[in-house]
Amino acid sequence: MFLRMSDGKFTTQAAILWGAIPLEAQKRILKNAFCAKCNVVVEIVDYYGTVENGDLMIDGTCAFCGHAAARVVETSKIRIENN
Ligand SMILES: [Zn+2]
Repeated sequence: MFLRMSDGKFTTQAAILWGAIPLEAQKRILKNAFCAKCNVVVEIVDYYGTVENGDLMIDGTCAFCGHAAARVVETSKIRIENN
């Protein structure tokens, strides 16, 4: 079951992790997904978030070619910056 948040869908656990990330950082993350077809960093759209091993996984679609794109947010390792 997915919760709808802003432009994406998240599992309950993923929504908690995503919600803890500052909005500016969220935007950066969404513009730094990897597309295997474009072979570059792309913006991810129509994404959904899940949690794997404590890390937030963002899976979605490449904004340029429509191929699947993904981004891992290592929430198990990073701390949310305070400044
Ligand atoms: Zn692409």
